[in-house]
Amino acid sequence: MTKLRSVKGMNDILPEEMPRWHRLERELTRVFALHGYAEVRTPVLEKTALFTHSIGEATDIVNKEMYTFVDKGEESLTLRPEGTASCARAYLEHSAGERQPVNKWFYVGPMYRRERPARGRYRQFYQAGVECYGDPGPYVDAEMIDMSVSLLAALGITEVRVLLNSLGGKETRARYREALKAFFEPHREALSAESQTRLELNPLRILDSKSLTDQEICQGAPPILDFLGPEDVEHFDGLRAALDALGTPYEVDPSLVRGLDYYTRTLFEVQTTSDELGAQSALLGGGRYDGMTEELGGKATPSVGFAMGLERLLLMMPVTEEPTTLDAFMITAGSELRSQTLVLAKELRAAGLRVDADLRGGSVKSQLRRASKTGARFALLLGEGEVARGVVQLKDLVAHEQRDLPLAEVARELAALVAAG
Ligand code: ATP
Ligand code: MG
Repeated sequence: MTKLRSVKGMNDILPEEMPRWHRLERELTRVFALHGYAEVRTPVLEKTALFTHSIGEATDIVNKEMYTFVDKGEESLTLRPEGTASCARAYLEHSAGERQPVNKWFYVGPMYRRERPARGRYRQFYQAGVECYGDPGPYVDAEMIDMSVSLLAALGITEVRVLLNSLGGKETRARYREALKAFFEPHREALSAESQTRLELNPLRILDSKSLTDQEICQGAPPILDFLGPEDVEHFDGLRAALDALGTPYEVDPSLVRGLDYYTRTLFEVQTTSDELGAQSALLGGGRYDGMTEELGGKATPSVGFAMGLERLLLMMPVTEEPTTLDAFMITAGSELRSQTLVLAKELRAAGLRVDADLRGGSVKSQLRRASKTGARFALLLGEGEVARGVVQLKDLVAHEQRDLPLAEVARELAALVAAG
């Protein structure tokens, strides 16, 4: 049989990479919790209609990136390409809004999009995101944007830029759509094939085109900010004033539209200014989608959120020394003592010490080599002589010192040494 490999664009995360992942996940959980966000977990599979309804038919995600299949001839299911739609469904399904006027949720998990893999772009990737339901903003929008920048800073990612825009409400979008249609019509032939289709379906998406010719044409397009109604303007001004008060730098970018259809008013993206990620410079993006819950058949609920790609953050996080995962490695001199090693290891683990041993046996030398490879600070050696004297030999692998410890005191002594660092 030919060697089986993982599905294209879907990566294994090996144990040696996990400390960085855990650090990232710990940090984001901490920062989200500081701001009152609680975790929610939703299934990776949803009914396809959830995404076509909320994300929008004319988006890249729905058009070409979804992993969709018919489940045993019964119904069409899709591996979630993002988390916002699932959260909104769960929020409505469990009537969360009836228990609390404002719900602040966060999630972390794998997402699936069938796109061309590149550095920082995969077919299975991890996103963490937040959703706030029940607050029309703009103060909570500002708090959220500021939180995202604080989180990046806590991760050591400081070369960032916040882009901000407002799309206005439904009517604004409709008027803007017509204006864009009129603007692009004379350029129709020059637009990419994809954008020609967008011209019919959703001309706003042309502004998000990755084609250079399209981008050049877009330079002359009327900015959405000119189309905002008075209440939209008030919302956007309020957001900017709150960000100023928080001292969060941002740039207003009227060309920011982003991939999804469901946004209203606030729209933001945080990009890295380093060229580390090339075209994948967007670290996180989000905005307000006040119409989404209604679109999904529920009560209208103002909502705002963002999602960030964990792999991209990991690529940007500075390399730091990760703490060792073991406190002590046990060495058995004489294979017949392995049961005793097991018993002592169990005792140490019961005391909260992280302990491993080479239970295959073998020479002391080879076990010592393994001990230092694990990064454990201490090794514990158990041989005939030690057993006869009721002790175990403690080796400090960093200081290269050793001494005997009475068996009954190993757990307490070792715990004290580990705590002392
Ligand atoms: P891009 O313009 O890079 O395709 P997007 O607009 O599709 O991003 P969103 O749908 O808003 O991105 O997702 C939010 C974040 O999730 C992105 O900013 C990025 O960090 C991450 N992300 C999106 N798609 C991928 C992917 N295929 N692989 C890895 N990370 C991704
Ligand atoms: Mg994309």
